Amino acid sequence: MDKQAQLQKLRDVILEWNEKINVTAIRDPEEFDRKNVQDSLSICGLPEYEQARTVLDLGTGGGFPGLPLAITSPGKQFVLADAVGKKLKVVQAAAQELGLVNVETVHGRAEDMAKTKVHRERYDLAVSRAVANMATLSEYCLPFVKVGGFFVAYKTEDAAEEIEAAKGAIAKLGGRILRVEKPSSNNDEPSNGHVLVVVEKIAKTPKEYPRKAGTPGKDPLK
Ligand code: SAH
Repeated sequence: MDKQAQLQKLRDVILEWNEKINVTAIRDPEEFDRKNVQDSLSICGLPEYEQARTVLDLGTGGGFPGLPLAITSPGKQFVLADAVGKKLKVVQAAAQELGLVNVETVHGRAEDMAKTKVHRERYDLAVSRAVANMATLSEYCLPFVKVGGFFVAYKTEDAAEEIEAAKGAIAKLGGRILRVEKPSSNNDEPSNGHVLVVVEKIAKTPKEYPRKAGTPGKDPLK
């Protein structure tokens, strides 16, 4: 099966599962292609993505952006993590039906996972879409990234203030914002509305981060 056919199959499999276990609010197939598949793939072509061999998708839900990326980048290894186990069942079923051998799922909260030796500072790249505000998300994601690696957040276009407000948190966690990319739609299709915030990991994350489960969300770093 070529990649295009696999992406279509992914849509069909996820939409079918979605009738039993809710993993996406998007039920229309065309909207699914645009908002889940094309939006997930908007990171492709970024040097920070192209260079990465190991990618963590934190808060993957029904597998976004992780599954479309795993389909189109068979040379990279993906870990798709989420705090809700039943969503990962759907991800696993989809990965199996598609024969994806480069996808692993981890059930857990970022705050706990990031404390473990197997995951902390082990990834070339962490990505995340629609999980938390930028400061909270940075505390979830940056501890997983190797020094010299990157964290890319999929954010809505109106998130400029939120991104600005997260700069102090990002610095505490060992990162710095490199740029905010607005992916160009390669045809006349309307934009998906996401920008990509590219954060470089320039120093190790201090041991006290992430704080205990729940705290990064309730009391975001400043
Ligand atoms: N990224 C997907 C899902 C977004 S919904 C998409 O864009 O479609 C947000 C997901 O983040 C939920 O599945 C939720 O369980 C997960 N999540 C929220 N906080 C988390 C945390 N601290 N650790 C792990 N997963 C988390």
